Amino acid sequence: MSASHQQCPKCKGEMELGFVLDNSHAVRIVSQWMPGPPQKSFWTGTKAPDDQLVPIGTFRCVACGFLESYARQEFAAQ
Ligand SMILES: [Zn+2]
Repeated sequence: MSASHQQCPKCKGEMELGFVLDNSHAVRIVSQWMPGPPQKSFWTGTKAPDDQLVPIGTFRCVACGFLESYARQEFAAQ
């Protein structure tokens, strides 16, 4: 699958690649995927070992705004 030239499954419009931004305590980070159900952590709120996280890239349809996300290492911050 190519990371560009996605077609919107809803309206067949063109989709552009971006990401969903997490704004948290003045830090801006890319949302990440974690396998399994969330588990509470006393220290960080939610347990999320770095070696299990996969960065999420999200395509947005420029015509209707539909969002489609993929979790792949290539979406890590450069
Ligand atoms: Zn669309």
